[in-house]
This record gives sequence, C-alpha cells and structure tokens, in this order.
Amino acid sequence: MSLRIPPSLLARKIVCPAYFPRPFPEDARLRFLGMHAMTALRVIRRHLGLGYQLREIEKRGNGCRADLVFQDASGRLRVCEVKSAKVLTRLHHIQTALYSNRDYDEVVLSNRETDIQLTRDYIESVLHQAQTTRELLINHAQEAASTFRPGEDICRTCANQRCSFLPTETRTDH
Ligand code: SF4
Repeated sequence: MSLRIPPSLLARKIVCPAYFPRPFPEDARLRFLGMHAMTALRVIRRHLGLGYQLREIEKRGNGCRADLVFQDASGRLRVCEVKSAKVLTRLHHIQTALYSNRDYDEVVLSNRETDIQLTRDYIESVLHQAQTTRELLINHAQEAASTFRPGEDICRTCANQRCSFLPTETRTDH
C-alpha cells in the first residue's frame, strides 16, 4: 500500500508524526503567495547574475511542484525550493530534499539572501526518513498519532488538539 503525501506535509510528519495541519486563512495565504513571488524574483535575479539560465517556473512532476529550475553553462540543472522566511530551518531543508529528483544535478534551498545546496548524503537520509515515516503512518497509525516531537517551527502551524505541546493560542479548549 502506498501513501501519497505532499512534500510540505510529509516534511512535517517526518519531524513530528502526530502533526496535523492547521487551515491557512485566505488573507494569510494571499500574503504568503505575495512574499513567495517577491522572493522568487530575488532568487532569479541572483542566478541570472551568476550566469544561470532560467529553465522552468513551478514545474510539476514527481507528485510535487519545483519552484525554479536553472541551467548553468555546462548544462547542469539546478532546482531551487524558494522560501520567504529569513531564517531557513531544519523543516525547510527536509522539505527541499523531498523535491529531489534524478532529473536535477543540484538541489538548492533558497531565500532572499542565500542559496544552500543540499548534499546527496543529506537527501538520501531524508528520503530514508520519508520512507520510514510513511510506513509508520500506514502500519502503525495509532503510534504515529501519539508520537509528539515538538519544535518551534512546526507546532505553531499544528492543529492537533490532543497534544499538550500545542501553543496555547491555538488551543480550542481554553
Ligand atoms: S503541537 Fe504536538 S502534534 Fe503538533 S507538531 Fe507540536 S508536538 Fe507535534
């Protein structure tokens, strides 16, 4: 049995299997899309300045969508996962690794200021964790639902009301 989970959710399930996503309000979603687009423009400008060619924007495939694909002068393809956050967290790295694909020579996490290339070893380790997490969710759903691993960057978007780590402002029982 296979379980298809979008990379953004799977990354969070890797960090905390009991994570349950909180709905994104429409105004926050629009604000996020605007910031993401501005950041993508910065990433494109930076890469063009380094001699890359822009090959694709929001390329679909492999069950996910790659933000930006560039090609360097030697033909090597670089996929960039764009984040509008100033500080790039472990969660962002995991999510980026899940976008890796044999079509790409380089997998990169980018924000306004920087581009971080992920190593092949790191990507392999995340893909292994993804497989382990899928198996936990499929075969041991109850254990997954009570495996709480809190983290500042993940609990604030969670809606698991059974978890004692849920931030107070997010609780519906206070
Ligand atoms: S609030 Fe609880 S279930 Fe949600 S991410 Fe944090 S530790 Fe995991």
